[in-house]
Amino acid sequence: MVDADKTSLVARLRASIGVAGRPFVARDAVNQPMIRHWCDAMADHNPVYTDPDFATKSAHGGIVAPPAMLNAWTMSGLGRPQSDSDDAAGSVYAALDEAGYTSVVATNSEHEYLRYLRPGDELTAVQVVSEVSDEKTTALGTGLFVTTRTEYRTQADELVGHMLFRILKFKPGTGRAAQPDSEEAQPAQRMRRPRPGISRDTRFFWDGLEAGELRIQRCEGCSALHHPPMVRCPACGSYDLGYQVSTGRGVVYSFVEPCHPRIPAFDYPYVVGLIELEEGTRLITNVVDIDPDKVEVGMPVELTMQKPDPELTLPMFRPRCPRRRETTLRFEEVAVGAELAPCPIPISRTLIVAAAIASRDYQDVHHDPALAVERGSPDIFMNILTTSGLCARYVSDWAGPDALLRKLSIRLGAPNYPGDTMTMWGSVLSATNQGGRGQVELALRGYNHIGDHVTGTVELELPSGGGEK
Ligand SMILES: [Zn+2]
Repeated sequence: MVDADKTSLVARLRASIGVAGRPFVARDAVNQPMIRHWCDAMADHNPVYTDPDFATKSAHGGIVAPPAMLNAWTMSGLGRPQSDSDDAAGSVYAALDEAGYTSVVATNSEHEYLRYLRPGDELTAVQVVSEVSDEKTTALGTGLFVTTRTEYRTQADELVGHMLFRILKFKPGTGRAAQPDSEEAQPAQRMRRPRPGISRDTRFFWDGLEAGELRIQRCEGCSALHHPPMVRCPACGSYDLGYQVSTGRGVVYSFVEPCHPRIPAFDYPYVVGLIELEEGTRLITNVVDIDPDKVEVGMPVELTMQKPDPELTLPMFRPRCPRRRETTLRFEEVAVGAELAPCPIPISRTLIVAAAIASRDYQDVHHDPALAVERGSPDIFMNILTTSGLCARYVSDWAGPDALLRKLSIRLGAPNYPGDTMTMWGSVLSATNQGGRGQVELALRGYNHIGDHVTGTVELELPSGGGEK
């Protein structure tokens, strides 16, 4: 396209800025089954969403919907267009499709929750195009960013939330990943990790890994546990040695991050950890799924079986997600600069698909691998509503059931593909007490093995002062 055409396209698209779209009435009122599907898919076990007795006694006074579901309620459904081409936003997307910008990816979402939704609320969304960028060259491809703002009102015309949403409409095949000659597309032949030396005395350990078990040698004479395995019990002298299966839970006893020289068989950065298991024995292994700067002595970890290549299974350890708080954190307990414990979330195919469907997002790139490849992606990838849901879950698990999320602003980077792990992390940016309610702002980050999948901020309210809810 010549520059004059591009200019006229952008000018034409910008004519839609500020024009309110046709109100979109949610197909269903806020309801328990959809809430339940969402909570199952996101593994969000906050009882205010699903347990009527608990919810009645909570700050909400009854069941509420997870706040991050805000735009799930007004998704159009399978096989139904999200917007009409004669509508403001719809006409912008249609014009971009026509000009060859047919691929789409969501890049930013900002939710503002004025109140939590309750079963029976019937939402109407009104969307306005607020910004159309010039043509940009991005890693994904050449395209334009389109930003919309949506207002959500109930049947009583009560304004309950806002959303700012930004997508990139781009030309498929114009991104860096699509260039077959680029270095990223042709990784050098990987050197394999060294093989373990296996003897008759240690075979049970390696066989255990193949069976998905971390086995610890146990003396059948005196029940003492040993690792590494011995030929004879050092405590009682017995040769009668068996094993027991570890729970896979432990803590980091010590660790080191080797930096130089680099060994081609290992992925960098990497952390060598001495893990003390619950059973009391220690083993040397790798600590994975965490930024090396965040590893700490005493950090709770759990077993994750890793296969660096098809013939090798190794027991590695990743941070154990903190337990969900059952009582709500009080404002006075929050310190600016404090960090939230890291929480690795395995990105399974099931999570991506189940959460896309629970958020009523039927875009093929979130469930159909062949079509995702056709659109220039190596595989299906997580949708932005799932990312919002997982961020909200991480924060509410940290803060407790009566915390109120007020704002969730996220920006997406590296996609979450199946088989990866996204580790959530957060820190307290600010904490102020306003009229007896504690206002807390958190920074959030969720990173996978490619880079930062999500960065953003969350604003929430916590109860403050003595005793009152
Ligand atoms: Zn013994």
